Amino acid sequence: MKTADVVIIGAGVNGASVAYNLAHKGLKKVVLLEKGLVAAGGTGRSAAIVRQHYSHPELVKMVKRSVEIFHDFEDIVGGDPGFVKCGWAFLVPDYVSDGFSQNLKMQQNLGIETQEITKCELLKMEPRINLDNVHRICYEKGSGYASPHKTTYSYVQKFCQLGGELMQTTAAVGLKIENGQVTGVCTEEGDISTEVVINAAGPWAKVVASWAGLDIPIQVTREEEIIIESADVDKPPNMVFSDMVNAIYYRPDGLSRILVGRGFPKEYENVDPDHFNQLVGKAFIQETWKLFLRRFPVFSRAIVINAYTGLYDVTPDWNPILGRVEEVQGFYMCAGFSGHGFKIAPSVGELMAEEIGLGGEQVANVNCFALSRFKKGNLLEGVYGGNRA
Ligand SMILES: Cc1cc2nc3c(=O)[nH]c(=O)nc-3n(C[C@H](O)[C@H](O)[C@H](O)COP(=O)(O)OP(=O)(O)OC[C@H]3O[C@@H](n4cnc5c(N)ncnc54)[C@H](O)[C@@H]3O)c2cc1C
Repeated sequence: MKTADVVIIGAGVNGASVAYNLAHKGLKKVVLLEKGLVAAGGTGRSAAIVRQHYSHPELVKMVKRSVEIFHDFEDIVGGDPGFVKCGWAFLVPDYVSDGFSQNLKMQQNLGIETQEITKCELLKMEPRINLDNVHRICYEKGSGYASPHKTTYSYVQKFCQLGGELMQTTAAVGLKIENGQVTGVCTEEGDISTEVVINAAGPWAKVVASWAGLDIPIQVTREEEIIIESADVDKPPNMVFSDMVNAIYYRPDGLSRILVGRGFPKEYENVDPDHFNQLVGKAFIQETWKLFLRRFPVFSRAIVINAYTGLYDVTPDWNPILGRVEEVQGFYMCAGFSGHGFKIAPSVGELMAEEIGLGGEQVANVNCFALSRFKKGNLLEGVYGGNRA
């Protein structure tokens, strides 16, 4: 029978980052299992916005470390994540103003390069935007966006170069557990003997966890995004925007396109990840386009050229579930990223390597993200709600 030190289930950006970090720390027999192709899950549909404004200090520490890695990816990991450091602006509505002030202070104390700016200062950087109803503005110079595919492929490629084994189009179909300890993974291509399994299956993580007898609180939501072609009209916005006033986000998508999606506050639609409507609704396209044009009327002659759906794996407090589980020895969670798991993936890989005992500097306290927090009632609080966390 095939044997491995660790089997990771799921080759999205988080499984890939974990795989690379384990191989980088010297583990020789690591298998990365993927039922489809690399980045086939939530990762492949991600807006991949990389910003650092969050409410929980441990999450902020993780995203700070991740941004350091994105800035220096070639030297730290190797390869090109497609990171564009164009800056990030947060358009803040009045009803979250107090929480915003607290968050900004906390982030500055943790060393994040973030500041409140005036409308005039933003207009100097992006003169085309209409700032009606914007109460306050936060700006992060070092943030931006990346390519979810390039980032994931870079991690996987490095993992394979270090001797790791990627098994694509091979689904895990069960776990072997003896006396409360993981002993193997059953796959479509046969069993793999291992004492450590990492569940990085994103929207399917609940199913994988059920094989370990766990009922984990992850719901899957259906998300939509549109892509606008602006080639003959004007260049895309100069930076990434999280516009909580209009509950949308928008960012440049290369040199002539704009990606727009909807963020909290909004209605979330729970779905079955294997059976959901993959067609984007007409209402979504029309409404999102309208909201975007309110901010950037200059693009009224641009054209929506694509629209697609993707999935979030959402926990009750909109934060991931990371680390060992008390119930089964050798079973680790790395899922439930709740719509913001792209940007933290670089530090998630490092944290998970530490968590399974390979050493390294603890950038954040992984225990805050333990599965047991839901039973104990230690949910993480966020000022903004939903994926804005
Ligand atoms: C529309 C959209 C916009 C987003 N925008 C942002 C953003 O701007 N910034 C940000 O930080 N985050 C964003 N996110 C969230 C982020 O993309 C996700 O949190 C992150 O990509 C999740 O990565 P993952 O590796 O945990 O899971 P996934 O990418 O979902 O990967 C899980 C993988 O597991 C595989 N798998 C499942 N079951 C099995 C099995 N039994 N055997 C083998 N393989 C299996 C799946 O095929 C899949 O490839 C967005 C997500 C969406 C959908």
